[in-house]
Formats: sequence, structure tokens, C-alpha cells
Amino acid sequence: MPKPKDEEYINRIRKMSEEGMTSYEIGAVLGKTPATIRQLWKNYGMIHNTSFKSKKDQRDLEKAALIEKMAVKGLSSAEIGEAIGLTPTGVRSYFRRYGIKAGRARGSQPGSYNTNWKGGRRINDGGYYEVAVKEHPHKNNCGYVREHRLVMEQIIGRYLKPEETVHHIDGNRLNNAPENLMLFESKSAHRKHHADMNRH
Ligand SMILES: [Zn+2]
Repeated sequence: MPKPKDEEYINRIRKMSEEGMTSYEIGAVLGKTPATIRQLWKNYGMIHNTSFKSKKDQRDLEKAALIEKMAVKGLSSAEIGEAIGLTPTGVRSYFRRYGIKAGRARGSQPGSYNTNWKGGRRINDGGYYEVAVKEHPHKNNCGYVREHRLVMEQIIGRYLKPEETVHHIDGNRLNNAPENLMLFESKSAHRKHHADMNRH
């Protein structure tokens, strides 16, 4: 349970959640990762009111639909941004928030807007997608990094530390949609989460 000084913080998150803000948006406001916000939703039994749609959300959705249409045609984030008056980073934030697959890079996986992306993707022995990258501090000897880690790095905007672990919420190792991934600070924290889930 929260210490009294944490209550205000939790209440803020609760209010934003009830107003329909996504874990990405709340995380951006509070400087936390979406995974942290989703964990708090769970821990405190918060309602994430997806049915609430403000006018801004509606406009955002329409813009996202437009961006997706262009991305499907293969336009890059820079080209899309030019067409609708957003920076490439602004466009990529729509990619992230709405799970839009970037067009240009083949494979069109969530991480394909990574500038290091070379396009090579395969399933490794562990049953995970791994992707060929030009430069990455934690690429393996063959020059590959597991895709779910790359996607999480896109979400949090930094490289993962080796001890950090990414969990697939639906249990499907090949589902690397951003909303299916959860970040844990260590292997033991990840294991504990699995143990907790089995108890329910
Ligand atoms: Zn897991």
C-alpha cells in the first residue's frame, strides 16, 4: 500500500487513467515508463477508461488513422510528417502510441523505424524474433538483438541494461506489439511476476 505521500501521486494516475489517457501518455507526463504505469494500474486495481474519448483523443485517433494509411503505402516518418505538419519524431510517437507499423523498412515490425534497422529478422533458438542491427551495445556475435528488447528500447528511449528483462504479457514470445511488453529491472523481478501470476 502507498505511503501517505505517495497517495497524491497514485490519485493523479488514477484520474488520468479514468480520463482515458494511455499508459504511454501518463508515463510521458510523469517521466515513467508505460510498463511502470501499467504495473501500477494492476497493483492498485485502477480502471483504465478506454471508452472515454475527449475531442482531443478523437482528433488524435483521426490523425493516427491518416498516419497509418500513409505508413501502409510505405511513406517514411519524415515524409508523413511533411504531409501533415508534424516532425518525424512526432509521427513516430503516433506509431508508438497506436501500434502503427512503419511502412518503409520491410518486415514492417514495430521496431523497424529504428535507424539502426537493417531489415534482417529471424526466429532464434529460444523462439524469439531477433533482428540484425548495425550498431548496438548488446548485439550478439552474429550482429543480432532480440526484437522485443529493441521494441522496449524504442518505448523507453534508451538502451536496456543487460540485467533488465522484457516480459510478454500474453505469453506469446513472437507478439512484440508495444502494448504486449512489460519491463522488469531484473531477472528475479521477472521470475517473481510469473510466480505471482501462477498463484492467481
Ligand atoms: Zn515473462
